[in-house]
Amino acid sequence: MFQTVRNKFIIFLILTVTITLALIGIISDYTIQKYITRGVIQSFSEDLQHETAKVESFITGIKADIDLLSGDATYNPVSAVDARKENETDKRRLQMENKFIKYMEVKRIYQQIIYIDNTGREVIRTYFDGEKAEIATKNKIHDKDHGAFADTMKLNKGMVYISPFSLQIKNGRTGVKREPLIRFAGPVFSASGEKTGILAVDVPGENLLNLFNNINSSGLMLVNRDGHLFIQPGEGIELGADAAGDGGERLQNYYPEQAAKILAGGYGNADTGKGWVTTWLYWIYNPGDKLLVYQSLFPNSMDKNNYWVLIKSGTKKELIGSLMTIRVVMIGISLLFFTVTYPVIVFFGLRVTRSVARLKKAMDGFERGEGIDSLNIKAKDEFGDLTRSFVTMAESLYSTKMNLNVEFQRLNSLVKFSRLVGEEISEKECYSILIKFLIKNFHFDKVIVVNFNNSENVAEVLISYEDNNNEPLPGDSSRYDLKVIQDPRLCRALRSGHKFVVGDVESDYRCQYQEVEQDEGSYACFPVITGGAVLGWVHLANFSKNYFSEDVCFTIESYINTIAPSINSIRLINAHRKMSVVDPLTGLYNRRFLEEMLERQISIAERYKQTLSVIMADIDHFKRINDTHGHAFGDNALKLISEIILMNVRDSDTVARYGGEEFIIVLPNTELDFACLLAEKIRKAIEQLDIINNTGVKERVTISFGVSSYPSIAYTLKELIDSSDSALYQSKAKGRNMVTKALKNMGMEYRDKSSTSPIFFKNN
Ligand code: GH3
Ligand code: MG
Ligand code: MG
Repeated sequence: MFQTVRNKFIIFLILTVTITLALIGIISDYTIQKYITRGVIQSFSEDLQHETAKVESFITGIKADIDLLSGDATYNPVSAVDARKENETDKRRLQMENKFIKYMEVKRIYQQIIYIDNTGREVIRTYFDGEKAEIATKNKIHDKDHGAFADTMKLNKGMVYISPFSLQIKNGRTGVKREPLIRFAGPVFSASGEKTGILAVDVPGENLLNLFNNINSSGLMLVNRDGHLFIQPGEGIELGADAAGDGGERLQNYYPEQAAKILAGGYGNADTGKGWVTTWLYWIYNPGDKLLVYQSLFPNSMDKNNYWVLIKSGTKKELIGSLMTIRVVMIGISLLFFTVTYPVIVFFGLRVTRSVARLKKAMDGFERGEGIDSLNIKAKDEFGDLTRSFVTMAESLYSTKMNLNVEFQRLNSLVKFSRLVGEEISEKECYSILIKFLIKNFHFDKVIVVNFNNSENVAEVLISYEDNNNEPLPGDSSRYDLKVIQDPRLCRALRSGHKFVVGDVESDYRCQYQEVEQDEGSYACFPVITGGAVLGWVHLANFSKNYFSEDVCFTIESYINTIAPSINSIRLINAHRKMSVVDPLTGLYNRRFLEEMLERQISIAERYKQTLSVIMADIDHFKRINDTHGHAFGDNALKLISEIILMNVRDSDTVARYGGEEFIIVLPNTELDFACLLAEKIRKAIEQLDIINNTGVKERVTISFGVSSYPSIAYTLKELIDSSDSALYQSKAKGRNMVTKALKNMGMEYRDKSSTSPIFFKNN
């Protein structure tokens, strides 16, 4: 699967897309969580500030009212006591009561305004029922209901007491109509600065709680420092809650873990879940988690113990909505990015993989020997370069391969040729093979192979071939009346030991001694050399010009160089064989050869019922000739006599030098009498021969013969030799220079006796 670049690329692509998407998801989620949390807290606290400001301004208004009203209330408490004692219609008190009533009817937020003197006695109480204000009747004045008195009397100037929310308690029971109140109270000072009492105003809880906007939907909570809830999300205003006493909902019931922290006051946030550094998946599984932001509210900046806490809460589930929206946007951006970038990547990736695939296909094809035509090498990029390099390399490899093939063929052919030639025992056959191999590869209009004997300086045409003859012809010197045959040293190739090439016989210098019929074209002569000795030369002609290029010559020379050692060894073998059976002085067969040959001839004669005659010859008084004229003269005589004998016998006859100056002539299928006639003929020829030495000495030599025959005289080799020897002995005995025919049973036993055998011819 991972073997091809294309598959690797596709896997890579899928992995990158997946990893990129996952990374974007994680990073965006993390970032979004962080920023959303921060943003939510920010916006919650802004909301809280806003709400707090409203409460604060509400309270400031009440404080200002207390200030205003208590200013009017300032009078001597003693005089107030006096006034009560003296007259209930004290003018000053009436004025205050009227003012309180008018004020309540205008403001419409105070349920009661009460003035209590510094002894704790209630002096004035006015009541507003929502329509109309009036002075409480004496029996309505609650002398004992001075809940705020003691606390307020401790306050300094400018400070305000604010009660907990309280319910109307009647006879120890909560009233049926639930009307929670908040009592605000401030100390009253005389002109001289003494505390003369307190002024308290009762505000219905609704007036404060109604300040908060969208209470039901904003997730806002208001608790006093004990945790009593006056507003809670979903429920709205808890009018029935008794902050001061038993019952009522408390923050601790809702957020037992966070309540302590929140109720401690100040500003901060709390999380009911596992914290914000979680994954969005966790949110999905824990949608009830809430984020709480709280802010303490100090109605009296100088009393740090008296505060409420405003809490804004949001469910994370709701927050995920924004996260989702942002994620969708992020994914959208990612997809947009992918739609732009990935097609580009895919386009280039596939282009590369396609190119690689094409290159691979071409390489495979090349491997199978199909050539490299399918390669597109138009591309201008690195791939194009790669492809072009491959093409160059492949072409060079291809041509190397082709060259190697050619070389291999050549070598193969050469090896075959070498083996064939090595098995040959005839020079001519060797050259025939050479010509056959050469004309397989080249065209020659004429071929002449000349054999050269270096020691004798003799050349002969061994093979001549013309294009119209299919087979190399046997050599025929007469056909080519070549001067070089008569004088081989004229041949340039032979003289130089190097090939001689004529590219154009019409214009180039041509060898004047190589007069082969050729009016046009080119020719070349290659010497056949081994061990520095020229064994011959090969003349090759082609009727087109400049046929013999370096390449052509190289191949021809490799063949000729291969043949040369074979020719040489054939010559050596022949020479050696000749040396062992041939007498070096006369060139006749030696005695050993003769005896073997004679044995065979007797067998042949016996088998074919033929006769076989033998002539034995011995030069007369040869010792004396040697003694007289010297050994060299004797040698020369031996040679001349041998030639005379050879000249007179048939090809089928064999002449051997049997001893020093003794010869034996074997005549197959020849009658005894005919052999005697032949001996006589030779005798006469020798008798007439003048032997001359270099000092001009002339001498005539005679020779004696003994003739015997199978089967008429002798049967075995020994009998044949012995009987002819006996006959020769007779010739000597009878006076020499004559021919004697052997008689039956003539053998060694007769030799010493005076023979009666007939003398065939007698020199007289
Ligand atoms: P006969 O007529 O009885 O044959 O007398 P002959 O002198 O020929 O006979 P003999 O056998 O006594 O002498 C043979 C001589 O031939 C002896 C030797 O010097 C000579 N001879 C043998 N071989 C050679 C040779 O190769 N060269 C020369 N120059 N002389 C040879
Ligand atoms: Mg002798
Ligand atoms: Mg002799």
